[in-house]
Amino acid sequence: MRAADPVELAPGEELDPLLSDDVVLRADHVSVVYDGDNPTRAVRDVTLELRRGEVLGIAGESGCGKSTLAYALMRMLRPPARLTGGRIIFSDHVGGTPVDVMALEAEELRHFRWRKLSMVFQSAMNALNPVTSLRKQFSDIFETHAPEMRRDDREQRSRELLEMVGIDPSRIASFPHELSGGMRQRVVIAMALALQPDVVIMDEPTTALDVVVQREILDEIERLREELGFSIVFITHDLSLLLEISDRLAVMYGGEIVEFAPSAQVARAPAHPYTLGLLESFPDMRGARRQLHGIPGSPPSLAEEVAGCAFAPRCDYAFAPCASVKPRLGERSFLAGHGAAIDVQGQRASRTWSVACHLHDPDLCPAGPPQELTGGDRAGDAETSTEEPGGVPDAICGEEE
Ligand code: SF4
Repeated sequence: MRAADPVELAPGEELDPLLSDDVVLRADHVSVVYDGDNPTRAVRDVTLELRRGEVLGIAGESGCGKSTLAYALMRMLRPPARLTGGRIIFSDHVGGTPVDVMALEAEELRHFRWRKLSMVFQSAMNALNPVTSLRKQFSDIFETHAPEMRRDDREQRSRELLEMVGIDPSRIASFPHELSGGMRQRVVIAMALALQPDVVIMDEPTTALDVVVQREILDEIERLREELGFSIVFITHDLSLLLEISDRLAVMYGGEIVEFAPSAQVARAPAHPYTLGLLESFPDMRGARRQLHGIPGSPPSLAEEVAGCAFAPRCDYAFAPCASVKPRLGERSFLAGHGAAIDVQGQRASRTWSVACHLHDPDLCPAGPPQELTGGDRAGDAETSTEEPGGVPDAICGEEE
């Protein structure tokens, strides 16, 4: 196994400047490659931060790097996956000393995982051992991550955890195949909360469940978060779900974050054409009837390098620079009601919204993005509208591809 490239601090450099007091976890320029004849750059220079007590959603189509990012945050990447750059910083309380997660030795990591940062894995049936009782699986967690616990305490804590997620503690002797899908998912959540972590990463925790059970599990997660105060990174391809449950969300495409903003703002004013495409792909249960639009084409191969914007082949708004100039995630603030975005790069206090799209770059698109990407009515919102999304930006930006 090739070790992760060490993340060195420059002489005199401290971790603190990267973390404001309200941030519990920060990924800073994280990149992950799957080695092989054709290396796959699954996560590309991702920077994001999780605030204390918040739900941070990460959305994107399958294969965009979401789960790989989650495993990188947990330091659970296995070969051929390899962290090639960046650092992950954790601070469990205001004023605490930030921890460089990448620098933790094996023993430190064992104490860190599950106590500070834990994970609810995709597909409960795969996450649980089918031939081992719940009692044994809970016990394994405590033996590994809290070896100081006595056997009686482990048993009692396991029962408490089952009860906490709404499962009769007498089921502790059950095997996973004796439980329903919803119960198995609750068990996995209980295991992730076993040592009261500050952060729980949830990777598609409700994807395989029917909508009724999904709703029950989401309500359970919200109740537990309010009760226990942990922060959540919630990963799913279901943007509509994230808009409902997350405080802020990051939209990933091609291994990169293309938009990072408060969820309410994304719902009202998606700034990236890909985010807009995702929003146009599902019906609004409460809003006016509107035409649904899918996103044509497929996500890019992460084994290939793209000179310009990776979304360009699928983007209705692509214009000349998109083919050759790579958009960078820039910080911008949004003037509600003015229909315009202004670049405030570098002003940390104003950082509310980041997007990687040339339409928001005043140098490449002086006229600014079209109305539907600045909080105006989205194309097709009205019941009677027949307008297709896109179609006008070339005129706005004055260039033909
Ligand atoms: Fe579309 Fe160009 Fe923006 Fe990429 S940079 S999302 S191709 S308009």
